[in-house]
Amino acid sequence: MPASRTIVIAGAGIGGLTASLALAARGFRVVVLEKTERLEEAGAGLQLSPNASRVLIDLGLGARLAQRAVVPDAVTVMNARSGRATVRLPLGDSAAARAGAPYWVIHRADLQSALEAEVKAHRSIDLQLGSAFENLSSDSGGVTVGYRRRSERRQQQALALIGADGIWSTVRGQMFPSTQPRFSGLIAWRGTVDARALPQAAPLGVQLWMGPQAHLVVYPISGGRRINLVAIVSDDWHREGWSAPGEAREIRSRFEAAGWATPARKLIGAVDIWKRWALFAMPDGGAWSAGTTALLGDASHGMLPFAAQGAGMAIEDAAVLAQCLGDSHRADAGGSVPAALQRYAQARRARVAKVQRLARQNGKIYHLTGPMALARDLAMQALGSQRLLARQSWVYDWRP
Ligand SMILES: Cc1cc2nc3c(=O)[nH]c(=O)nc-3n(C[C@H](O)[C@H](O)[C@H](O)COP(=O)(O)OP(=O)(O)OC[C@H]3O[C@@H](n4cnc5c(N)ncnc54)[C@H](O)[C@@H]3O)c2cc1C
Repeated sequence: MPASRTIVIAGAGIGGLTASLALAARGFRVVVLEKTERLEEAGAGLQLSPNASRVLIDLGLGARLAQRAVVPDAVTVMNARSGRATVRLPLGDSAAARAGAPYWVIHRADLQSALEAEVKAHRSIDLQLGSAFENLSSDSGGVTVGYRRRSERRQQQALALIGADGIWSTVRGQMFPSTQPRFSGLIAWRGTVDARALPQAAPLGVQLWMGPQAHLVVYPISGGRRINLVAIVSDDWHREGWSAPGEAREIRSRFEAAGWATPARKLIGAVDIWKRWALFAMPDGGAWSAGTTALLGDASHGMLPFAAQGAGMAIEDAAVLAQCLGDSHRADAGGSVPAALQRYAQARRARVAKVQRLARQNGKIYHLTGPMALARDLAMQALGSQRLLARQSWVYDWRP
């Protein structure tokens, strides 16, 4: 591929694959380097709010994703001690009509394979599996990207390099070595269960159970056939990675000892295979671009998952990046690639920092104890579902 219209993306996660489609739609050739030999399911379920689903639909993925996603009827906030609903925020088709795009819950593997199929069908995208980014050197013509394909060292000339290689980004390590993710002191336990195996009716929407220093998120995926569970607890274990195994007995006894209501404990008890994920987050306000290289998704702003927006922000990044780079190549725009990447970083920074703060704040609110927890529940009831939903509109109503 000639360098003149080529962009290299390191990382074929949700961010990298979406960016490749958005850039190809603007007329670029894209080489996507992915270090793993196969794109595998990383984690389990994912919530995609309208700000993200809108971008994916614009890229032509609507029909493919609609087949596999579930439109939850509501987000119901549950009290972990009483087992009762504190407040129910309706979503479903009415929320989609209001926002102009659906709220989806989906298995990550379904999203990943829909993106991969679209990428493979695109003549301008070259997805190279088993290819690990190693180094970069910039020159006046752009950037030379060094990578290793199996045992062979290779190079690719490009206009720009996009580091979409996740929270442990090698690209970021070379550009901004002092910016490192920090451990939050929290662990996500993740598992799925066949909806028919649940001892109670499977939820049709998202359940958010709030308890003392822990919370539990439950929702249907895979067309409602499976139920996804994420339990967040404090811990000092912090290994990198998606899929360290977790002992079912350990998580069950933690929620039992903490006095969680029977329906929540039954949900947890129904899952046999758990994976643990230590929650790291990037500090706010790190650099995103330098010269012809920029970061995208978790590589620049890996965040706590308590606003359910990490992938959403990566998807938004992809749309804005393609817009900025696309404009730099319009004959009448006269811009350069470094200037376009700076515009991208500027356009994204404030919004992403606000979402990072929201995620941290949500985590604190979800884990309140004693009288503070009671005050939280009363405040949510007093505000009511419509006003609580309206508070999310700055996140959901975003458009590229
Ligand atoms: C418990 C939990 C729940 C979550 N729930 C939600 C949710 O409901 N909604 C939401 O929007 N977000 C959610 N998130 C966040 C979301 O999962 C991430 O923000 C998102 O997956 C980040 O995508 P990414 O493409 O930036 O990075 P990644 O998905 O990490 O992809 C990075 C890719 O780069 C590859 N790579 C790494 N190094 C190299 C290299 N040197 N060369 C080539 N390739 C490389 C990796 O193999 C990987 O494929 C959740 C996260 C957690 C932990």
